[in-house]
Amino acid sequence: MALSNDGPADAAPPQDFFRKLSDAVPGIFYTYWLSADASKHCFPYVSEQVKALFGLAPANLSADGNALFALIHPEDYPILGESIAESVQSLEPWRCRARLQVVDGSYIWFEGFSQPERQADGSTLWYGQFHNIQQYKELEQELRDSEAEYSFQARFQSLVARLSKEFIHAGGKTIDDCIDQFLSEVGEFFGADRVYLYALDDDFESMTKTHRWCRPGIPSLIAPNQTIALDNRLPWHQQILQMIEGNRVVFTGHDVERLSSDGEDSTTLATVFSVPISVQGRVVGFMGMDFYASDSWRDDLNDLLVILAGLLSGVLERHLLEERLVRQSLKDPLTGLYNRRYLMPRLEEMMQRVGRYNEDFSVAIIDIDHFKRINDRLGHMAGDAVLCRFSEIVRKESRATDIVARFGGEEFVVVFPDQGMAETALAIDRILQAVCNGGFAFQGLEIAVTASAGIASASEDVLNKDTVDELLSLADERLYKAKSSGRNRFMDSSGQSPI
Ligand code: GH3
Ligand code: MG
Ligand code: MG
Repeated sequence: MALSNDGPADAAPPQDFFRKLSDAVPGIFYTYWLSADASKHCFPYVSEQVKALFGLAPANLSADGNALFALIHPEDYPILGESIAESVQSLEPWRCRARLQVVDGSYIWFEGFSQPERQADGSTLWYGQFHNIQQYKELEQELRDSEAEYSFQARFQSLVARLSKEFIHAGGKTIDDCIDQFLSEVGEFFGADRVYLYALDDDFESMTKTHRWCRPGIPSLIAPNQTIALDNRLPWHQQILQMIEGNRVVFTGHDVERLSSDGEDSTTLATVFSVPISVQGRVVGFMGMDFYASDSWRDDLNDLLVILAGLLSGVLERHLLEERLVRQSLKDPLTGLYNRRYLMPRLEEMMQRVGRYNEDFSVAIIDIDHFKRINDRLGHMAGDAVLCRFSEIVRKESRATDIVARFGGEEFVVVFPDQGMAETALAIDRILQAVCNGGFAFQGLEIAVTASAGIASASEDVLNKDTVDELLSLADERLYKAKSSGRNRFMDSSGQSPI
């Protein structure tokens, strides 16, 4: 592009003045001229630095500006063009930031300022300066990054706080609901495609998927509650075993081929993270997180997953502890049998079903004969040993579906679901005989033990079906009759002792 004679030469400022000025201050001084029809442009004056910076000769740029414009980053070109057009129209000062390619091929940010002046021929001439703002841009980026990081960390902390709160105030939610919610919130937060929880068996020979969350549209690779044998020939399984051994997060890198359980269709995953879940120092399972796109996870994901796994481990630990406490509070510590606290609600439930579905069941109250004598003669410890042995016998002689409970001191209740009087009489007869032949002993001393029982069935006419009290009173009355008619026997609805 050659300049016309009536072009910028007339308007050009004294070159010498510019040269001296631009040598003295940082930045690149220039004048930029654009013809009225915007078809020609050039830099009538530009500081010598353009040579070192861009490898361009000022003399060439004074004839044609294209060489410098060719170095503008393609992304910044449109905004630069717009800002020049705007300045031509408004004659307002021009200001713009853009990246220019320097001699080593890299792009550096520059900022330019200039003041436009309309020329007599309708062309425009700007007087201005541009300078390197790369460092400033880098600082700005660092600031943006650290702000984004700060906001991410704050959101992560609030996620952890929210999940902890949810777990503490679980309300009516079950532990499974809590875990499902945990997985979905964690999956959404990290933009994962799948998050799941596997339970490991005690010998680390198999694993069972217990909970999972999948992003909508992402299929689950393994059916819920499916158990998979851990096979140390499979690379993925080897990693799980490594994770258990080292109790650390395992990251499986790009393009992992992970076989689905049936070994049929294999799916290519970008990345898999597996983090162990421990309860009381022992790995009991792991949480896994799948990503199909590797750019969606962070380098510090390992650390963040450890925090979340710790939260989940704590929750599971507490849950197991609570379960144990509940179990303990429902069982008699001496004999390990259920206690009254467990028995009564179960009996109430069964009684309601009798009214509603015409189901039948029977109860027996069994009381050890002359137990006080055992205590008195052989001591309390001997009494305790008898109670334990007695419990063992009753447990052994009853079905798995029968409920055996210690009702009081040496008084026991056996509940026989779906069983009427006749069958119950047979069962109790068997139990009493087993007690009689029970081989009770304490410190090498044999102890003769017998017991008496009273039985009652829920279907008996005399009963008020709304409560179990009458049923138990009836059995108790019959127990009393068995005692008073000689002990080592039971009494049923006939009022007779069949033995
Ligand atoms: P009966 O044949 O009429 O049932 O006479 P019994 O001696 O078995 O009945 P009684 O109710 O007079 O005595 C029951 C005793 O059981 C009194 C109590 O000290 C004792 N006992 C209650 N709980 C325990 C216990 O946990 N361990 C021991 N060793 N004794 C207990
Ligand atoms: Mg007794
Ligand atoms: Mg008693």
